[in-house]
Amino acid sequence: MLNFTKVDRVNPLKRGVMERIKDFKEVYTVFDKHKAAEQSERCIGCGDPYCHNKCPLHNIIPAWLKQTANNDLELAFNISNETSPFPEILGRICPQDVLCEGDCTLNDTHGAITIGSIETHISEKGFEKGLKPKFTKTKIGKKVAIIGSGPAGISAATFLLRAGVDVEMFERANRAGGLLTYGIPGFKLEKERVKRRIDWLIDAGMTLHTNCEIGKDKSFDDLENTFDAVFIGIGATKGRYPGIDGEKDPNVHLSMEFLTKIQKRNFGEDVENFIDVKDKNILVVGGGDTAMDCLRTSVREGAKSVKCLYRRDEKNMPGSKKEVINSKEEGVEFIFNVSPLSIQNNQMKLIRTQMTQINSTGRQGVEIIEGSEYNEPADIIIFALGFEQELPQFLQDSKLELDKWNGIVTNEKFQTSKTTIYSGGDSVRGANLAVRAAADGKNAAKEIVEGFKL
Ligand code: SF4
Repeated sequence: MLNFTKVDRVNPLKRGVMERIKDFKEVYTVFDKHKAAEQSERCIGCGDPYCHNKCPLHNIIPAWLKQTANNDLELAFNISNETSPFPEILGRICPQDVLCEGDCTLNDTHGAITIGSIETHISEKGFEKGLKPKFTKTKIGKKVAIIGSGPAGISAATFLLRAGVDVEMFERANRAGGLLTYGIPGFKLEKERVKRRIDWLIDAGMTLHTNCEIGKDKSFDDLENTFDAVFIGIGATKGRYPGIDGEKDPNVHLSMEFLTKIQKRNFGEDVENFIDVKDKNILVVGGGDTAMDCLRTSVREGAKSVKCLYRRDEKNMPGSKKEVINSKEEGVEFIFNVSPLSIQNNQMKLIRTQMTQINSTGRQGVEIIEGSEYNEPADIIIFALGFEQELPQFLQDSKLELDKWNGIVTNEKFQTSKTTIYSGGDSVRGANLAVRAAADGKNAAKEIVEGFKL
């Protein structure tokens, strides 16, 4: 350990640009054991590790780095899988630069430890050696229904099953995984990784109901009456429009509609009203990770030109820096400090903006520059402006307390206004990171189990 003065931080190798833009396979390779050990040996083993504190799951990062450096893969695997429901997935998709790696003591001076990539290495190499996440066979005689199979639902199921609780999961789509399956493109997360975790939950005794919409195919009352507790993890998937003229034109789409249709096509499914971007000029409006996903997907679909429009400057982009770099490498053009005004006749009218002082939210403000309007040609426009909570019929009928954004109101124990109904993830906190939803699912599972003891 402490080798940071001798060994530089390195990232895993990426596939070459010309090769990777032809398919939806992952861009990053996985560290081999020598590289993972060498990078782990850079850790200085802080007494009060900031990385651990910053990780929403409070992963015991220094401990699994130490075991990776010691070449004890099995112990590293067990430690990593103890606190996280799917470490190899979060190692790939977390924006580490604003989480664990951003708070690494070495970040400002020598380069942070490559925590996410080592996390992915530990589980992937462990799986190759036949290691599997552990579940108990001892049952406690309680059963929980989980509505939604995204990060919060999978996490809740994992920790409930580990505590000996019987779990049934209800998913309205034809495949489980939610955002992990349909929202995150394969070049960041191949879909076999998600299916593998779901399959282990099924092996551990979980019953999965797909194509089952609560309130339509099964009533919410039924779940309330049949199960000892219910966990709602339905996410926040309703996209936002900017509120401009022409935004509902047929050539304008929302990010999740676009990404879901592409993924369904990639699964070999028939897709109604497929969004074909081949040989077209594509404008994606937004500066977060979902915008980068839409841009890089458009590149892989053979678009003629792919441009990102963002109202702030590059420094103030909300997403992961590595995704911006990857987008640029793949040929995306970025236009900063512009805001959409209207859409008409395959043109988007934009107005230029400029950054101002840091405002009350701690971010630099932005203001429009009067008289700076201009047009950008656009065959297809995709808005990636964040997500809101949906209000499915079952939630309207449930009489659960909701906030003014349709978020489910919970207490510190993840209980809703009905004590046996729990919720977490985006359906409570609004659109946020998958790792925060995973942390909510884990913590809610612990509270559900504690509740059974009362
Ligand atoms: Fe870092 Fe995310 Fe892994 Fe936590 S789950 S250690 S934040 S990559």
